Amino acid sequence: MSRATVATIHLGALRRNLARVRELARGAKVMAVVKADGYGHGLERVARALSDADAFGVAAIGDGLRLRAAGISNRIVVLSGPDEPADLAEFRRLQLDAVIHHESQLVWLEADRDSRHLRVWLKLDTGMHRLGFALQRAPEIHARLRALANIDADIALMTHFAASDEFDNDLTARQIACFDATTVNLPGARSLVNSAGVLGWPAARGQWLRVGGLLYGLSVIAGKSGADLGFEPAMTLSAKLISINCIQRGERIGYAASYECPEDMPVGVAAIGYGDGYPRSAPSGTPVLVNGVRAAIAGRVSMDLITIDLRAVPNAKVGDHVVLWGRELPVEEIAACAGTISYDLTCGMTKRVLFVEGGA
Ligand SMILES: *Cc1c(COP(=O)(O)O)cnc(C)c1O
Repeated sequence: MSRATVATIHLGALRRNLARVRELARGAKVMAVVKADGYGHGLERVARALSDADAFGVAAIGDGLRLRAAGISNRIVVLSGPDEPADLAEFRRLQLDAVIHHESQLVWLEADRDSRHLRVWLKLDTGMHRLGFALQRAPEIHARLRALANIDADIALMTHFAASDEFDNDLTARQIACFDATTVNLPGARSLVNSAGVLGWPAARGQWLRVGGLLYGLSVIAGKSGADLGFEPAMTLSAKLISINCIQRGERIGYAASYECPEDMPVGVAAIGYGDGYPRSAPSGTPVLVNGVRAAIAGRVSMDLITIDLRAVPNAKVGDHVVLWGRELPVEEIAACAGTISYDLTCGMTKRVLFVEGGA
């Protein structure tokens, strides 16, 4: 029997979140970003639930292969394009769209005599300085792509924001302005915004949104949960109490003896730890729900176990249900305690966690 450490994925929430993004999209197309195994929710599972998406965005060609093997026929965009010349044949065979962001990829395309059709997106760097051609090269690169017979003439133009989650940061306004000015004479659909951009920079929505976090009910806006923004968490992480002990006042709990009991108190042990992907950096005081009641971690998170101050839940017993995050306990709150963002937590679930699908 495996441990009862379970990630429940709410398929209905995924679907409703996509419908909500569509309302905000005002007719723009929606690329559902499913990289990192659907932000940890399961690539194929998420793609099936979001079959209405106009395209899926993945980080690597292997994810495109997995989606095609699962029978997914939507458009699939590989956000970092080919990593080597041999990838191009796979892009064509699997009908994956390739984002072209670097001169080396353009050189591979120019040398490629394969007559099978390939769709490309041209990525421009407007200030993030990660992937993308320098903006002033846009007309030249675009012309070189247009000159290739084996590439679809419809070339989408994209860029990525560095700080769109800060709604008052004018870096995003500058990124939008220079993108618009440099591409004004180039044909093709525009794609600028991610989740935070959809919320904070609606005028930049262009023809294609690239949305990940919001589809999973996740927020990167400081101080706001996905639910605060009108989205539903798609993952509930839960475990069970496997021990409860009464520990005396002044005794210390766990590794490094970091937590000292302020009084005689019940301390529960739940079967989850950093070996499951629960963050080791979550300090004492990080909330958990025991039978739906808020309690708090007491002492260090260990590999397989956490220890919980059960003073708020005196009737708790072995076998009771513990929620680490989900609808009643925003993952953003846990992320803030652990010094990270919600995406990092849901992406971090390990193979040991049992994934189950919840319809609603
Ligand atoms: C991950 C990613 C997105 C989606 O970002 P979210 O914040 O999850 O919406 C969009 N575009 C690119 C290029 C990405 O890498």
